[in-house]
Amino acid sequence: MPLLPIRIYDDPILRETARPIEQVTDRLRALARDMAETMYEARGIGLAANQIGELERIIVVDVDWASRNGRRALPRNPLTLINPEILDDSVEDDVYSEGCLSIPGVEGDVWRPVRIRYRYTDLDGRTHEDEAEGLRARCIQHEIDHLNGVLFIDRMTPEERARLAGALAQIRYDLVVDQAAGARIDLFSATARTCYFRLNPYAARGGVPKG
Ligand code: ZN
Repeated sequence: MPLLPIRIYDDPILRETARPIEQVTDRLRALARDMAETMYEARGIGLAANQIGELERIIVVDVDWASRNGRRALPRNPLTLINPEILDDSVEDDVYSEGCLSIPGVEGDVWRPVRIRYRYTDLDGRTHEDEAEGLRARCIQHEIDHLNGVLFIDRMTPEERARLAGALAQIRYDLVVDQAAGARIDLFSATARTCYFRLNPYAARGGVPKG
């Protein structure tokens, strides 16, 4: 199965709103398979369509497959959510250090509700409602944000954003320079100078979960 190019900050498509999906087709099922394969290859726990250049409301999530700090991981079991929406979220929130496959090398604290109730359509076209908490709830929120053009850095405190400003400016600068040189820009195939995938230690070694 082909790996899909993961778009890097600040590619404009990361700021677009994805369109609702009206019908679950074989093309969509193939896209979901490729998205899952791409997520695993990038050592991610979630991936949204915007990140691979498609503006359709589909995300894949698997928070258990990658071991963190030596924790035993479970077999791959990707969950595909089509047209996901959050129906309710908890008053209680908590803070956690997040990463994003589209913003390599950057991590920072983000507050989010601990629990969510959500609705989605599966790959057979059936609609479900379910609940999630902890990392799974956080990941689903992160990915739905992507479908709405929202990035995790938008949800950080001003202090946290200020701390990361230099790193974000560097990624933006590298992107512009590489584009000007005609290089193909994505997580897997940036130029040797800015090989994001190799430069990102979290991509190679687990660490902070990224979606
Ligand atoms: Zn992300």
